[in-house]
Amino acid sequence: MAETMSIDMSSSRNADDSTMADTQCRNCDSFVTPQFARVFGNNRNEVYGCFECMTATEVKKGRANDPVEANRAREEMR
Ligand SMILES: [Zn+2]
Repeated sequence: MAETMSIDMSSSRNADDSTMADTQCRNCDSFVTPQFARVFGNNRNEVYGCFECMTATEVKKGRANDPVEANRAREEMR
């Protein structure tokens, strides 16, 4: 029972969607949802880790929004 991201996907779209970056993990190129990128990415909605290449715990700590932090998190997993 670990995954409860309460993001309202039915709400009307915001005007700033035009600035949305492509929603891919910059580390492993896995597809991530725009919501994921917005919540866990940096201010340009870029994520450097995702649930495919990082643990959910580390992502939720906010370590996916920085390439150095994300790499460090993956190093610690070994
Ligand atoms: Zn990834």
